[in-house]
Amino acid sequence: MTTDLASFASQNGVKYFMISFTDLFGGQRAKLVPAAAISEMQEEGAGFAGFATYLDMTPAHPDMLAVPDPSSVIQLPWKPEVAWVAANPVMEGAKVSQAPRNVLEAQIAKAAEKGLRVKTGVEAEYYLLTEDGSALSDPYDTAAKPCYDSQALMRRYDVIAEICDYMLDLGWGPYQNDHEDANGQFEMNFEFDDVLKTADKHSFFKFMTKSVAEKHGLRATFMAKPMPGLTGNGCHAHISVWDMDGKTNAFEDDGDELGLSQQGYHFLGGIIGHAAGMSAITNPTVNSYKRLNAPVTSSGATWAPNTISWTGNNRTHMVRVPGPGRFELRLPDGSTNPYLLQAVIIAAGLSGLATKADPGPRRDNDMYAEPQKARGAKKLPLNLLDALRAFHKDSDLRIALGNECSDAFLKLKHAEWTDYMGHFTDWEKANALDI
Ligand code: ADP
Ligand code: MG
Ligand code: MG
Ligand code: MG
Ligand code: MG
Repeated sequence: MTTDLASFASQNGVKYFMISFTDLFGGQRAKLVPAAAISEMQEEGAGFAGFATYLDMTPAHPDMLAVPDPSSVIQLPWKPEVAWVAANPVMEGAKVSQAPRNVLEAQIAKAAEKGLRVKTGVEAEYYLLTEDGSALSDPYDTAAKPCYDSQALMRRYDVIAEICDYMLDLGWGPYQNDHEDANGQFEMNFEFDDVLKTADKHSFFKFMTKSVAEKHGLRATFMAKPMPGLTGNGCHAHISVWDMDGKTNAFEDDGDELGLSQQGYHFLGGIIGHAAGMSAITNPTVNSYKRLNAPVTSSGATWAPNTISWTGNNRTHMVRVPGPGRFELRLPDGSTNPYLLQAVIIAAGLSGLATKADPGPRRDNDMYAEPQKARGAKKLPLNLLDALRAFHKDSDLRIALGNECSDAFLKLKHAEWTDYMGHFTDWEKANALDI
């Protein structure tokens, strides 16, 4: 049954709804709508000028209407008089096919045609910085090996417990929180779910974490590599595929040494085969490539992949199979678009299933210490332009993700790259002034 948002408001004391949609760069855009006006908005959607966001539109385009999906509604735990609701953009009666949440819904429908239901969990790492974002917020968080640091974790107890309490109340099944491998870095884990639910939770988690941090006078960032020399913010995705009733894991096969079925290997083969192109989506910023292929960090390891390779329970490769019936994609970083991340996983995976893709050899070497032992494993793109070109070249992936979205994404990201290239750095002078 569809939730009637007006009744939801009166039952729960909601005064305002944030009708929120996500643009191609992962930005969350909202209108704050009073409960008295929500009935009409639930039908018609809230109006936006698409060009004013990161969508490939002009100022001459008609209004874009963000139609709320009432099943996604969440009362802000830190401000219960406001409720957030994810919305799907529509223009002149048709779904905006470049809009990320629509793109993901289309991928889910494609998987469903094959009788498959994709479920994922994400690990959205973040840093807590000073309010202005210029420095780590905890001056004592300086350990050379800061991962799991109990003192530094407990100095941020008020922020972390507040967010975790909210996730408990929301029924997300959070089960652990820790200090991660960089000074100032944290991770909070909640249970995997259907991809659309995970994408909405991922979006809301970012919004909630930033909001709670702000409340405490801090700044939370999911940027891929906020501090040079320290471990970056990954956003690993754990992936499994189920039958439509969600009860049988199609990836699981107890007869296999890693517990992965033939379908699981083909899906993985799709991810491996499309990884270079995919990275434009999973690692979409200039800064993303400071995390990938990075020199060793001060903690001893980057924990980020350098090559397109897969393995068993070994964290130095792009894909790890940590247990039966699922695998972990370690490629994405915190700047990935929560909806396009899930969409590109499905697009690549379904392509692997369709072509019965072979993921290639399992590699068991320490990819950081002994990369030479994985001869033949391709390097991941070295910068955003490489990744955009790889995505452009991968027409199967572009088509699978939908031409409107792929073309719009490439156009806007190329413009961003050009803007970046227009910036001069001190490094250039230091290395070329006296040539
Ligand atoms: P690690 O740090 O070892 O990679 P975490 O415990 O931080 O792992 O995160 C694991 C994520 O994987 C969680 O979101 C968890 O719910 C999810 N997960 C566990 N099993 C599955 C599965 N079968 N399918 C998809 N996701 C899963
Ligand atoms: Mg106006
Ligand atoms: Mg983790
Ligand atoms: Mg982690
Ligand atoms: Mg992980």
